[in-house]
Amino acid sequence: MSRNKLKVGGIVYSVLRQKEPIIQDDSLLAGRVVYQEARIELHSTPDAQYSMETFLHEKNHIILRQSQLERMIPADKMEEFVEAFSHWELMVLRDNAWLMREIQKL
Ligand SMILES: [Zn+2]
Repeated sequence: MSRNKLKVGGIVYSVLRQKEPIIQDDSLLAGRVVYQEARIELHSTPDAQYSMETFLHEKNHIILRQSQLERMIPADKMEEFVEAFSHWELMVLRDNAWLMREIQKL
């Protein structure tokens, strides 16, 4: 799978990195998922950590939706939950490179 695709369960999402900011309902977004079109849109910035955190954030929204775990999280807490989880996920993956290597062998 290339970095322009993300497979979650049986669905392959295309990943679009765009220079233009993403505007939705008069808000500027760092990223969003267009579920009907299986597409992740990311606002591309030079800040690699920010960009990766945004990617993980959108990936985690998809996992929560497809697994139906999002039902367990109050809607008004969802962004806070996904934000914190993605931040910690990136930190643990970055600090434990062996983990991704071992997962690749599975
Ligand atoms: Zn979000």
